[in-house]
Amino acid sequence: MAQNFDMVVIGAGPGGYVAAIRGAQLGLKVACIEREHLGGICLNWGCIPTKALLRSAEVFHLMERAKDFGLSAEKIGYDIDKVVERSRGVAKQLSNGVGHLLKKNKVTTIMGEATVTGKGKVSVKTAKGTEEVSAGSIIIATGARARELPGLEPDGKLVWNYKHALNPPHMPKKLLVIGSGAIGIEFASFFNTLGADTTVVEVMDRVLPVEDAEISAFAKKQFVKQGMKIMEKAAVKKLDRAGNKVTAHIETGGKVETVEFDTVISAVGIVGNVEGLGLEKLGVKVDRTHVVTDEYCRTGVDGVYAIGDVAGAPWLAHKASHEGVMVAELIAGQKPHPIKPNSIAGCTYCHPQVASVGLTEARAKELGHDIKVGKFPFVGNGKAIALGEPEGMVKTVFDAKTGELLGAHMVGAEVTELIQGYVVGRTLETTEAELMETVFPHPTLSEMMHESVLDAYGRAIHF
Ligand SMILES: Cc1cc2nc3c(=O)[nH]c(=O)nc-3n(C[C@H](O)[C@H](O)[C@H](O)COP(=O)(O)OP(=O)(O)OC[C@H]3O[C@@H](n4cnc5c(N)ncnc54)[C@H](O)[C@@H]3O)c2cc1C
Repeated sequence: MAQNFDMVVIGAGPGGYVAAIRGAQLGLKVACIEREHLGGICLNWGCIPTKALLRSAEVFHLMERAKDFGLSAEKIGYDIDKVVERSRGVAKQLSNGVGHLLKKNKVTTIMGEATVTGKGKVSVKTAKGTEEVSAGSIIIATGARARELPGLEPDGKLVWNYKHALNPPHMPKKLLVIGSGAIGIEFASFFNTLGADTTVVEVMDRVLPVEDAEISAFAKKQFVKQGMKIMEKAAVKKLDRAGNKVTAHIETGGKVETVEFDTVISAVGIVGNVEGLGLEKLGVKVDRTHVVTDEYCRTGVDGVYAIGDVAGAPWLAHKASHEGVMVAELIAGQKPHPIKPNSIAGCTYCHPQVASVGLTEARAKELGHDIKVGKFPFVGNGKAIALGEPEGMVKTVFDAKTGELLGAHMVGAEVTELIQGYVVGRTLETTEAELMETVFPHPTLSEMMHESVLDAYGRAIHF
C-alpha cells in the first residue's frame, strides 16, 4: 500500500530539501525523494565544490604574492589531486549534513528515481524495488544539468562538462572554456590561476554577459592581465578530437580559425530535468525544458508545484531555496510573498569576484527610468589597500525621481559577501536617503557601498 504524505518533494537539492524541512517545521508529513546525492547539484557538483577549488586557487595566488606582504614562500606548488580531494571532501561533508537535517526534521527520505503516476501519486524506483507514495501536494524540484551542443559534446577526457571539471582526469595545460557565464568564468579563473594557458570564447559581445557592461569590461581587463585570452563575439563551431589534442574551429568576425587545446570545458548553459517525470500525462506545461509556473511556483495543475532550476531562471541555489520555503508555506496554508526576481543577487567567484542585484544601467534606461549612477573604485578604500586588493569598483543605479535603488554592481575582492547589504536595502525598499544615513564601519570594504551611493548624489568623500 502507498505511504501517504501531506507533501512529497522530488529532488533533494537546495530547492527540494529546504522545502521539505520548511514543510516539516510547519507540521506537514513530508517525504523527499532523491535519485543521486542529497544536496543536489549545488552541494555535490555546483556551488560548494567549485568554491572549495577556487579557495585553493586563491591561497595559491596569495602565496605567489607573498613578497607583496613582506613574506617569503619558496617552492610554491600544488597537487591537483589533493586540491580536488579537498573539494570532494567538502561536498561530501555538506551532503551528509543535509541527511542529518532531514532526519532531525522527521522528513522521510527515499533514495530512488521518482515518477508522478497520477494525481497525488508518485512511484519511486529504489535499489530494493518500487515504492508507491501519495500526497496532497507534489513539489517538482528536479533541477537541471549541463546543456550539450551538437559537436561539442563532452567525453570526460578531452572535452569536459562541469562534473568532469570538478573531478578532472588531468591538469589542463592549454584550456579552452566555451561560455563566459558564471560557471565558465569560475573554471577559467581556477585553472588559469593554477597555470593553465586559458582561452575563453564567448558568443555574446562581452564576458559575463548578464552583468552591467562596465563591470564586464572591468573584469575582462583583470582576466587579460592575469594571462587569459578572451574571445568575444566568437563561436566554437566544431571540435576535432585526435589523440590527446582537440582542434577547435572558432568563428570570429566572419572568419574561422583553428586552435589546438589539450582540454575543453563546455559551459554553454543548462537544461531542466523534466524528462521521465510523467509531467505530460499530468498536464504540466513545459517550455524549452523548464516547467512553466506562476509567481507562487504553481504549475496550473492542482497540487503540483515546481521550484528551483527546473522552473527556470535565475538558476541559483538561493532562488531555489527561497522558492522551496515559499511553496511549503503556501501548502501549509500560510500567505507567503512571491519572490521578486530583481532582488535576487547573482555572484560569480572568479578572481576578481563579481556580484550584482537588480537592474543594470542599460536595462534601467531601457525601462525608461531617469537614473542617477554612483561609482567608487577599490583604490579609494583604505581596507582594500591594506588587503592588497586595489582592483575593483562598486556601482549603484538609482531612480532619479524616487531615489529607489534600482541596481548595484560590484567587481573586486569579497564583493560576493558585500552584495547582501544592497539586497537587504532592496527588500526594505530603501532609497538613497536611508543608505546615505547609514553608518558604515571603518575600515571595511563596505564603506565603498556607502561612497558609491554618495557619489550618485555628488557627495563622495574619498574620491
Ligand atoms: C559548476 C556550478 C557552479 C554553481 N555555482 C553556484 C553558485 O555559486 N551559487 C548559486 O547560487 N548557484 C550555483 N550553481 C547553480 C546551483 O547549483 C543550482 O541553481 C541549484 O543547485 C538548483 O537547485 P535545485 O534544488 O533546483 O536543483 P538541483 O540542485 O539540481 O537538485 C535537483 C535534485 O533532484 C534530483 N532528481 C532529478 N530528477 C529526479 C527524479 N526523477 N527522482 C528523484 N530525484 C531526482 C537530482 O538528482 C538532484 O539531486 C552552480 C551550478 C554549477 C553547475
